[in-house]
Amino acid sequence: MNKYSAKKIFTGRELLENSVVTTDDAGLILSIDSIENHDKTSIQFFTGAICPGFVNAHCHLELSYMRNLIAHGTGLAQFIKDLLSIRNEKMEVILQEIEIANEEMCRNGIVAVGDISNDDHTLLEKKKSRIYYHTFIEAYGFNPTDAIHYFEIAKKVFLGARELNLSASITPHAPYSVPPQLMELIYGWNKNHPEIYSIHNQETEAETQFFKDGSGDFKILIDDFFKLNSSEVFQPTGDRSINYLLKYLPKEKNALMVHNTFSTEEEINNISEEFKNLFWCACPKANLYIENRLPDYKNWLQVTDRICIGTDSLASNNSLSILDEIRTIQSNFPVIKTETLIGWATINGARFLKIDKQFGSIEVGKTPGLNFITDINDDGRLKVSSEVKRII
Ligand SMILES: [Zn+2]
Repeated sequence: MNKYSAKKIFTGRELLENSVVTTDDAGLILSIDSIENHDKTSIQFFTGAICPGFVNAHCHLELSYMRNLIAHGTGLAQFIKDLLSIRNEKMEVILQEIEIANEEMCRNGIVAVGDISNDDHTLLEKKKSRIYYHTFIEAYGFNPTDAIHYFEIAKKVFLGARELNLSASITPHAPYSVPPQLMELIYGWNKNHPEIYSIHNQETEAETQFFKDGSGDFKILIDDFFKLNSSEVFQPTGDRSINYLLKYLPKEKNALMVHNTFSTEEEINNISEEFKNLFWCACPKANLYIENRLPDYKNWLQVTDRICIGTDSLASNNSLSILDEIRTIQSNFPVIKTETLIGWATINGARFLKIDKQFGSIEVGKTPGLNFITDINDDGRLKVSSEVKRII
């Protein structure tokens, strides 16, 4: 039996002080109660804060070898071109960087990851990792007549994941890269385990423009880079891109909208009202890396119990650390309290991934992992020097 305490304990749902968390040797939470009930010499006391293991709701582990390779601030369409141009590393290097990145996440107190994959490169690492992974296998491709082919590629990776008994689902990549025919194949597929979806949404203004009238950076990307005729393969809807996504998304399924940099407050509130199982993912450091812009997270606060946090990949981030993401949000939006952000980074991600029976909060009967955040301010705010260390 182990007893832990700290000046502050963020449970994932609330902030406690003068409290003790008792676990068994496997990390199962046995009790949370007042420090008065314990002999002080039996408690391991941390000077900063304790919180549950983090849930990284959005990552691309397979892109880890792209650390420091892509230029900052060029916008999403150029980022996609750069990424695809260097997607040809030796398998040995790809696998080694996947292993290093998985280790980095472990060290940074991440216990569960919603990970996007296009290939099967990460599957064996996921199988042996102590981190819980759900793999979102993206189906994508611009040409509607090739929808079945695109879907078969995703299906092959999916079957590989399930053969290893890994949790996995086939999901659409983004509104601009998934034609209606492919959307229908994805949502008609009933073998996802569990049936959850993760979609890149409104990451750039160019997406809005492309849906409005078929012009802009995505037209150039499809015409010049992919050598297709965008006016043949894509029909602008004249509407916001998110409405195209929602047209196909089954309301009863958990889905994560990732980035949302250009989503309006009205959109977030109205859509959340209609889609009760929809979650919103913040990846602030990747948004700064690619578009040099952050979503206005103050506009998200009405749906605070459905916000998750992701690191995105090392192609667009210099670390895989949820604490770094939290610090980036808080330093730009000081009004958002640490206990709120810890909730985004733990219980909300666990609920989205449907793993909240085990992960996401310090509650009796769970084995959420425990982190220790060093050097926190008296009011609970993170400092530049705050670091995360893993207790369990
Ligand atoms: Zn992503």
